[in-house]
Amino acid sequence: MFDSSSPWRACGLLFALTALIVAVSGAGRGVEDGLHALRDQLHLRPASGQVALVEMDARSLAAFQRWPWPRSLYGRVVTALSRAGASAIAFDVDFSARSDPKEDKAFGEAITASSAPVILPTFQQSGSREGGGTVENIPIPELRGRAMLASVNILPDQDGFVRAAPVGSVTEGLTRPAIAAILASSIGRNTQRVALDGAIDPAAIPRVSFVDLVNNPSLAQQFKGKSVVVGATAIEMGDHFLLPNHGQTPGVLIHILATETLLQKSSPTSFGPWIMGLLTLAGALVALRMKGGWRTAALAGLSAVVLVTPLALECLKLGTMEIAPALAGLAAAAAAAQIHAAVQALRRARMVDADTELPNARSLNATLAATKTGAVVALRIANYGEVHGVLGRDSAAELIRRVAERLQLASLTPVHRVGENALTWIDPTTDEEAWEDRVHAAAALLRAPILLDGRPINLAFGFGLAALAGTPRAALGRALLSADSALSRNDRFEKHTEDLERAADWRMELAAELDQALANGDIWVAYQPKLDIAGGGITSSEALVRWRHPRRGPISPDAFIPGLEAMGRMSDLTLFVLRQAMQDQAAWRAQGLSISVSVNVSAQLPKDPEFVAAVEALVAEYRPPEGMITLEVTESAAMQDPEAAIAALARFTEMGLVISVDDYGAGQSTLGYLKALPAKELKIDQGFVVGMAASRSDQAMVRSTIDLAHELGYKVVAEGVETLEILELLASFGCDYAQGWHVGRPVAADRFYEIASGEADQAA
Ligand code: C2E
Ligand code: CA
Ligand code: CA
Repeated sequence: MFDSSSPWRACGLLFALTALIVAVSGAGRGVEDGLHALRDQLHLRPASGQVALVEMDARSLAAFQRWPWPRSLYGRVVTALSRAGASAIAFDVDFSARSDPKEDKAFGEAITASSAPVILPTFQQSGSREGGGTVENIPIPELRGRAMLASVNILPDQDGFVRAAPVGSVTEGLTRPAIAAILASSIGRNTQRVALDGAIDPAAIPRVSFVDLVNNPSLAQQFKGKSVVVGATAIEMGDHFLLPNHGQTPGVLIHILATETLLQKSSPTSFGPWIMGLLTLAGALVALRMKGGWRTAALAGLSAVVLVTPLALECLKLGTMEIAPALAGLAAAAAAAQIHAAVQALRRARMVDADTELPNARSLNATLAATKTGAVVALRIANYGEVHGVLGRDSAAELIRRVAERLQLASLTPVHRVGENALTWIDPTTDEEAWEDRVHAAAALLRAPILLDGRPINLAFGFGLAALAGTPRAALGRALLSADSALSRNDRFEKHTEDLERAADWRMELAAELDQALANGDIWVAYQPKLDIAGGGITSSEALVRWRHPRRGPISPDAFIPGLEAMGRMSDLTLFVLRQAMQDQAAWRAQGLSISVSVNVSAQLPKDPEFVAAVEALVAEYRPPEGMITLEVTESAAMQDPEAAIAALARFTEMGLVISVDDYGAGQSTLGYLKALPAKELKIDQGFVVGMAASRSDQAMVRSTIDLAHELGYKVVAEGVETLEILELLASFGCDYAQGWHVGRPVAADRFYEIASGEADQAA
């Protein structure tokens, strides 16, 4: 459940910093207030009803038609309320200026006569006198007699909303309680502010319109035993403030809400942001150490707890707390953890082979960079291309996975996929002899066939080993080179040596010299005759390239062709041989000798559209008669991308060329599969033919291949016919053509003409 790679410490630190900044700077104020208002909505409860409101509303204004109202009207209200048994009567109306003396007197007398205490307001204003300060406007003396005085100032927060009311005020050393403090008989320091309980619903405050009460004093009955506040609610009279959740609210209502808050003792004491911040941090540190889904769930749960805790406290009237810093810390830490996880996932993806989910070359390089001693072992799977071609990409990937699994059985872990058909691992020990033992053990593990889609696949593979030295890339390169070299020698294992590297250098050098060699005439074409076994004459030949190197002497095609293939230089060479073959064939034809010529085409070429176009241009230039030029391709030509290869081979047959399958029997494919190729000829690999004299099983193989090939409509050529005995066997099997030293060695074109025309003379 816990993820050790999670950067929980860093995320925790980020949490603490964010929370601290938000708490100290007040940046979370808006969110804090918004959440608080939301919570108030959630547990809204009615006012106690102990404080009532006499509204100087729009209707009253309209009824009395003049302003200010005659003061006797206020007197009538006091008298009505007092008679009805109200417990206190407070005014939120400015009486600091005199009006009509008769009216002032009537109101003053009503106050004096009232059995309920009457509270008149004082207003603090910024001083007009020199020196600034504040002054207090108090009611005129005619009214003040028995009345109590209370301050009615309201101080909105910076954002214009009123969230607290003063318990009192101090002006020039004189303390004055607020209306709410008097009505709730609350004792407190006069400068204190009481946070309004936003959950009290102002809609439940009993109220009556001023004009109705004046016209019908019996309406005051409902206020028996209650405190009553008289004040303006008409919008026209100003005196409105913004209240969270309630919008524009008359000041008088705010005094009532303050009173209710004090009466219900529900002004929430705030525990501040720190307790919640620390508890959440502790929770987050646990959550951040969890893995993926667990972490997300834990962080979400934690956020929910943070959000709900103040609601619970407020419902239970235990207080409130600030949660914005904790929430901000949580958000920052969660985001950081999320980003970290995403970056990690990306990094992992870069280190993993998409098809097999094995670690890739990048991952190997990273490991190698940190490894000082040991060896790199590489495994090249030679028939990967065939599996890919026949069974598809998914099965090929599956094959690689299975191979990796087997290797892991021998604790060769982790196995990296460093190329399509190449696996690698590091042998960390320094014991050079043990390296080879372990490679041989691995080779033994791969000997049994691998079952894929129900077919047993025999692996053709080579191992290479190189001691760690130099850059990781160089070590990997040396191991792969050794594996390829082992494969090319039909061996299972090769340890990297200086010689091998020199050979690789040599191949690269030759590739660089190719153009010059082609131009100089160092490269030329030999022709080896093929015997028409039934007809008994030389009617065809194979063109075989030769390189007479000025310094190195003659180089065998087996030595330079793999290098040129690896360097992608085979197109130029093949086109050279093909042009030469067409030229020589045309020259022989001009002299009356009709000989078909076969040219070898490397596996990767048929898929190269430029190569196909160049062949077409040559055909157009030399116009060889239909069927007289054959292209020899090995089965692997069609394995990697069968559709493209088959399409290209079909193009060649449309040009009048013949396709022949070279080295048949050396690879893995079956005749049935080859049927998909537009080939007319099959060349049985010389390995089987040379061995035929001594091996019954080779004989059986050659014989059954000839039979089956004939059934499928192929002509059959046997290569490696070194003796008369073999030729006779082949003749008895019904083989069509024989090629080999017994028939004739590869020779230059003019020599070939002499031999072939002589044979023709003999035959004639
Ligand atoms: P390959 O296509 O199988 O050519 C037949 C090889 O067998 C030739 O070797 C030939 O000299 C040799 N050979 C002929 N008769 C006998 C025999 O009776 N016994 C034995 N043991 N060997 C015999 P070479 O000329 O050294 O060519 C080697 C390979 O190089 C060829 O094998 C072919 O794969 C490749 N190659 C040669 N020329 C070209 C070319 O122009 N293009 C391409 N792509 N490959 C070529
Ligand atoms: Ca050949
Ligand atoms: Ca061959």
